[in-house]
Amino acid sequence: MNPPFNCRGCGHCCLNLIDAYNGCVSDADLQRWQKLGRDDLLAWVKTLELGPGNRLHTAWVDPQTGEDVERCPWLLDKLDGRGHLCGIDSIKPDHCRAYPEHRQHAATTGCRGYDKPAAPITETRQEGRSDEK
Ligand code: SF4
Ligand code: SF4
Repeated sequence: MNPPFNCRGCGHCCLNLIDAYNGCVSDADLQRWQKLGRDDLLAWVKTLELGPGNRLHTAWVDPQTGEDVERCPWLLDKLDGRGHLCGIDSIKPDHCRAYPEHRQHAATTGCRGYDKPAAPITETRQEGRSDEK
């Protein structure tokens, strides 16, 4: 049986897949953050008016410089240095929530969340064996 998805917290998707941190967020994302009063998140979204009824919410854009970021501003490093966490996990953008869309998507974009867990290290040497040289 194939193992279920298990995020390893490696941060690969957040660090290396540019769509994650330089993509578009949805109307639903904006509404969620507005409802929660998360002006700190909304400040990093730039809305482009492309025509009647056609708006694009681009994220993440540094509110100080107006430049696209090169790393997601909400990505945290684990204290032990062994991976990353999303600082806004429960309210993160829909496209982050949806990643990876399926096993094949994970495989082709470098996500190891569907990989089999590594086998535990087993102790094969018996302590105190008399035939040890
Ligand atoms: S690449 Fe996959 S395993 Fe790594 S943090 Fe992203 S979703 Fe989790
Ligand atoms: S919002 Fe969270 S899940 Fe999305 S790119 Fe940033 S740190 Fe990763």
